[in-house]
Amino acid sequence: MLSFWEKSSFLHYNYLIVGGGIVGFSTAIELKKKNPKASVLVVEAGLLPTGASTKNAGFACVGSLSEMLADLENHSEEELIALSKLRREGLNLLRKNLGDKNMDYQASGSHELLFEHELPLLDQIPKLNQILAPNFGENTFSEKSLKEANFGFSSDVKALVFNQVEGSIHTGKMMKNLILKAQSLGVEYKTLAKVNRIEEDSSSVHVFIEGQEFSLTADNVVLCTNAFTKTFLPDLDLEPGRGQVLVTEKIPNLKLKGIFHFDSGYYYFREIEGRVLFGGGRNMDFEAEKTNDFALNSKIQQDLETKLKTLICPKHEVKIAMRWTGIMAFGRNKLPFVERLSQGLWAGVRLGGMGVAIGSKLGEILSSKLLEEGN
Ligand SMILES: Cc1cc2nc3c(=O)[nH]c(=O)nc-3n(C[C@H](O)[C@H](O)[C@H](O)COP(=O)(O)OP(=O)(O)OC[C@H]3O[C@@H](n4cnc5c(N)ncnc54)[C@H](O)[C@@H]3O)c2cc1C
Repeated sequence: MLSFWEKSSFLHYNYLIVGGGIVGFSTAIELKKKNPKASVLVVEAGLLPTGASTKNAGFACVGSLSEMLADLENHSEEELIALSKLRREGLNLLRKNLGDKNMDYQASGSHELLFEHELPLLDQIPKLNQILAPNFGENTFSEKSLKEANFGFSSDVKALVFNQVEGSIHTGKMMKNLILKAQSLGVEYKTLAKVNRIEEDSSSVHVFIEGQEFSLTADNVVLCTNAFTKTFLPDLDLEPGRGQVLVTEKIPNLKLKGIFHFDSGYYYFREIEGRVLFGGGRNMDFEAEKTNDFALNSKIQQDLETKLKTLICPKHEVKIAMRWTGIMAFGRNKLPFVERLSQGLWAGVRLGGMGVAIGSKLGEILSSKLLEEGN
């Protein structure tokens, strides 16, 4: 039974955001920055954010050479330029909102490892640099000497491509400070609040939370549920994609610095506090990884472990300290899905593997649309 006070102060919001990941909180922050008087609530199913935003590798990335060249096979140059713009503007906004220190942002650049069969990709660097020039300047990619870099990789690695635009963040600090920033602006946040059902009538949108007898209402509800959006939009072009990650114990005399990719972005690794974080391998078992289940995939974890020991750190003794997974969302196209779905229902989802870069920008786009066109 609800009190008079609860009914008057806790049940209705101007904006109710479903999903407390990067996009949910970025949208909340931008709404409050533009309209401080608006009431904004973020509801999150987990006690912690439970999708991708606290599970990722912390690459402030825009794409590797082989990944972007692969993208050009099913996206136009214009689409690639649009995606690059989103990534550049999103990263800049994230850095502006939080400050580099608050997420340990390091403008380290990144390296891609190329194998024998990929060496012809080096010839495509000038072409890709030209496409990317409007967003990232003249020389996004350049070849780097393997010998001088001396990272200690296996001799199967035949070339290194440096990307001067990319960098790294501490994902935990980033997400924690994003939440704190939203709260400092007056955004309310409720965890363990899984939305089961959403209904709309002529005056507002009703949001039903698992285990609660009453519903919340809002003028506008925004789905920022990424891989979990099919619960609400079963026909959307969106497929979950699980990502497997492992982290080693500390490795003495580790020579890695910065962030690394290989195999069209399907594998990624970095140094973190003297350890190696290594993730990816979805392409080893695509069908099994199209899931919202956070379980480990032993086939992929084994593949990661083998590649870690034989390719990345062949000269070191490595022990695995922890493993985890996170769930991404993919569509046929790499552009995110940002739409008004009905009078009071909106969505900003399908971030792919680059939500760190795109998430803040999506929040800005959504908030502008909501303030211009929303209820
Ligand atoms: C292993 C891995 C590595 C990655 N590495 C990188 C990287 O290095 N760089 C990069 O840019 N990107 C990376 N990504 C992708 C990036 O993390 C995502 O694109 C981004 O976090 C998506 O943010 P989001 O807010 O859209 O979704 P999410 O973070 O998934 O947030 C959605 C939230 O909605 C909540 N939710 C879902 N359903 C409901 C419901 N019914 N009710 C209430 N709440 C609900 C979920 O619990 C979740 O917290 C990686 C992802 C993974 C999994």
